[in-house]
Amino acid sequence: MPDSIERALAAALTDACYFGQILIRKAGENGFVLCHRDDQGFDGLRLFQNPEDAIEISKFDDIENYRPLKTAPNLSRGWQLAVVDLSDLRRALDYFYPGRLAALVAWKENRLKTTPLRQTLDRQSGMYRIAAKISDAQINSLVGDFCRSDGGCLRAILWKRNESGIIPSTKLPPEKFEPAHDQALGPGPTTAAIAVIPLLCQEACNLLVAAARKVVKGE
Ligand code: SF4
Repeated sequence: MPDSIERALAAALTDACYFGQILIRKAGENGFVLCHRDDQGFDGLRLFQNPEDAIEISKFDDIENYRPLKTAPNLSRGWQLAVVDLSDLRRALDYFYPGRLAALVAWKENRLKTTPLRQTLDRQSGMYRIAAKISDAQINSLVGDFCRSDGGCLRAILWKRNESGIIPSTKLPPEKFEPAHDQALGPGPTTAAIAVIPLLCQEACNLLVAAARKVVKGE
């Protein structure tokens, strides 16, 4: 019996759609084939058949650097993963983009809690407590660079800078805050020929918090 995440995933799927840098295509009666969206139509891709293969595929980028942020736009190319059904597709996508399907379902059901950056920083303890001392100007610059879709992260930002609802960074284009926008295409209007399943960011990740700490410490 599909759970709520699988039901929402099934509803979002079309014959072909994008989820971050992944192209998902329906194959056969129940199966799906995944590949890097830029590898569409390429021959000679390495073939994989287990959802767990997504763990290794997503671990390193094309020059063998470890990928600490799974939603960074540096997913490796050259692979194709075939899964037999919706349940295995959900598992594979959870390895590629951990927690993003659950966030999507919560968002669609209007129960996704977002946390302002200042609140995230204020609740840090230990060596990260100092991150809360970052200035607004520093946040503006840091988030504008760290979270940008072209080279930073492909999630659409749903959180604000503080409780007053100020946007996190004026350096990011308005599309960065639009879940429907295809972040992998960059800013500007898109006439997507292929449906896009949003990758959402409901609160600052620990990598951004660590980067804020470095800014405060002047590193
Ligand atoms: S805070 Fe969110 S948008 Fe920014 S890098 Fe982290 S996960 Fe991506």
